[in-house]
Amino acid sequence: MGPADELVRIAKKLDKMVARKSTEGALDLLKSLTGYTMTIQLLQTTRIGVAVNSVRKHCSDEEVVTSAKILIKNWKRLLGDSHRLPKKLQREQGRKVGETPSHCLGTSSRSPGTIPGSWHLPVLPAWPRRANSSKTKPETPRTPTSPSFSPSPCLLAPCYLTGDSVRDKCIEMLTAALRMDDDYKEFGVNCEKMASEIEDHILWRRTGDMKYRNRVRSRISNLKDPKNPSLRRNVLCGAIQPSLIARMTAEEMASDELKELRNAMTQEAIREHQMAKTGGTVTDLFQCGKCKKKNCTYNQVQTRSADEPMTTFVLCNECGNRWKVC
Ligand SMILES: [Zn+2]
Repeated sequence: MGPADELVRIAKKLDKMVARKSTEGALDLLKSLTGYTMTIQLLQTTRIGVAVNSVRKHCSDEEVVTSAKILIKNWKRLLGDSHRLPKKLQREQGRKVGETPSHCLGTSSRSPGTIPGSWHLPVLPAWPRRANSSKTKPETPRTPTSPSFSPSPCLLAPCYLTGDSVRDKCIEMLTAALRMDDDYKEFGVNCEKMASEIEDHILWRRTGDMKYRNRVRSRISNLKDPKNPSLRRNVLCGAIQPSLIARMTAEEMASDELKELRNAMTQEAIREHQMAKTGGTVTDLFQCGKCKKKNCTYNQVQTRSADEPMTTFVLCNECGNRWKVC
């Protein structure tokens, strides 16, 4: 069975599910679709796009809808790319390429939304996509889906733009939250870079659309909380890594107990930071996870009780990345 037959089979299954109003197993089918290298021809001949879009329109399961949206979005991008091919190549690619998404995907020309979702096509790794997106992807107008994310001029430095207006807005807002006070100057932190890392971790945490937004919002409100400045300081000094703040629960961000613990850690980290500036041991024992270079400075500190092993704080002298080795 070729991919076309397989896609026809999946499309029929999805159609049946819509007809029965039962989406049991739809998610698995949608996920299996990510494994296909979609072409315009396949979209046209198998009607898989129409079937997926119909699931999107009629299904009430948020996860299924999100999955369908992402598939459609990625396929639309494929269609979008073909528009920018020279006319000659378009003709070679097949009939009626000009009839666009609405034709092959059964959608109106309105964008289905550009929401990061629970999963994605595995062919697109995060970083290259970010790096290329502003240059190669056409900026498509998007419908704001919630008032607080309404479009306004984005002030983000171009190198942190993702090509997705919702994501860019989130990064911008996270940046503003990190810059709430002048703490960031003390730590010498590039807030845009840090916000972009936090957002990236939130995005790849495999959460649904609403969860992504809620997660971003709760991070922002906690980072800005004037009663909880230690959270922001901990993030800024690196005691709480972007990956950690991205997944912390509201309780974790706010609890007194943890606040105390983190306060202690902040103090250590600040001390470390100051030590790192003045001294520390230069070593090639550690490799920076970010720039992959081996030019680091480390310090060892007793963060817990005296009989426990020391915590090693490492600073990359090349890119300023910091991490903790327990
Ligand atoms: Zn580095």
